[in-house]
Amino acid sequence: MDLVVQKFGGTSVANADRIREVADHVRRCRDRGDQVVLVISAMGKETDELLALASAVSDTQPGRELDMLITAGERKACALVCMALHDLGVPADSFTGSQAGFITDTNHGNAKILEITPSRVQDALDANRVPVVAGSQGVSTENDVTFLGRGGSDTTAVALAHSLGADACELYTDVSGVFTTDPRVCADARKLNSISFDELLEMTAVGCPKPAMRSVEVAQNYGVKLHIRSAFTWEQGTWVVKEEFSMEQPIIRSVTPDTSEAKITVTGVADRPGVAAAMFRQLADAGVNVDMIVQNASERGITDISFTVPDGDVDTAAAITRSLAAEIGATGVAADRDIARISLVGAGMKSHPGVAATMFETLSENQINIEMISTSPIRISCVIRQDHADAATQALHKAFGLSQ
Ligand code: ADP
Ligand code: ASP
Ligand code: MG
Repeated sequence: MDLVVQKFGGTSVANADRIREVADHVRRCRDRGDQVVLVISAMGKETDELLALASAVSDTQPGRELDMLITAGERKACALVCMALHDLGVPADSFTGSQAGFITDTNHGNAKILEITPSRVQDALDANRVPVVAGSQGVSTENDVTFLGRGGSDTTAVALAHSLGADACELYTDVSGVFTTDPRVCADARKLNSISFDELLEMTAVGCPKPAMRSVEVAQNYGVKLHIRSAFTWEQGTWVVKEEFSMEQPIIRSVTPDTSEAKITVTGVADRPGVAAAMFRQLADAGVNVDMIVQNASERGITDISFTVPDGDVDTAAAITRSLAAEIGATGVAADRDIARISLVGAGMKSHPGVAATMFETLSENQINIEMISTSPIRISCVIRQDHADAATQALHKAFGLSQ
């Protein structure tokens, strides 16, 4: 008998039929002899709708109230899943994050889990009932409801799986696993049967939406067995494993496009010690998440610095750099939202030269200009124009032989 934590959210529980399907799946798993713990996230696009509602009502949106609002989406979905289970004769109990023992810090909107004491979840399991836990939420050390952030239900599921000593954590979604690229962009994207934690972490860090990056980090740190799979076809999905060393290891595992970043270029910056420090310290203190940074070779003591930030941070980043202009001698600050970052990820590139060359050749053959480049031992990323994102993804997917 295996103990499995199963997470469903978004499209997987988008309507009454989907909720009944999920309940039926749980019944079948129990009939096979498995013990199931469910983590449920909000139905369909409900989180986006609640956020839009908050914006329509209020300009201030205090974090405490916003968290109270958003977490209601998960609670509603949880209760409905429980009702569907009862209809099938499966005993089940819903739990809020707080009831499930998730203690977090006080950082509203993006709270971190400090501790989990899932005694009520364990009691329900011991009574042969299905615990149904609301994802992406907890209670803070100051006793307020907190939201773990977008995609936080994946993290709830992995953390709970570790805490309960589960045999596996299954993240169900609307595709059958992790693919060689976004299947919405490349019709011939291929499902990967397995992928290493390092590769998946790198993919999620550069924009792959599934699974949420924090959940992969937690699973890797605590050795949780992670399985990403479909809530529609129920077939075997992608297992996340420790790095595999095999003769057959592909050089490139995936192409990840990301159109959610923007580029800031600061021109005419004085090329002297302390300039970059002053700029990036202020950005960091304002919570701006800087990714790629490029500084040009200086000419007569003057240089340009470009960097990328998430779209949502671009106004703050531009305002901070503009306010520093006099101090660092900058003559201009330009914000450009129309960029895409395309990344190749694969542990095999560590031992295979020529990946960068092939990537650049492929982009050049498609008349796509590269504006910035960054690398890690298992990743190469290029910033290009956003309207070239799909063409670049398709061309690279083909050039590296990733298609079916
Ligand atoms: P959920 O709502 O189930 O948590 P998301 O909607 O956040 O899931 O993410 C699933 C979507 O991620 C899929 O529909 C798919 O189009 C997209 N996606 C992008 N890149 C990939 C990839 N490399 N592998 C799998 N899915 C991907
Ligand atoms: N419903 C929340 C979101 O959309 C949390 C989650 O799905 O994990 O971000
Ligand atoms: Mg989703």
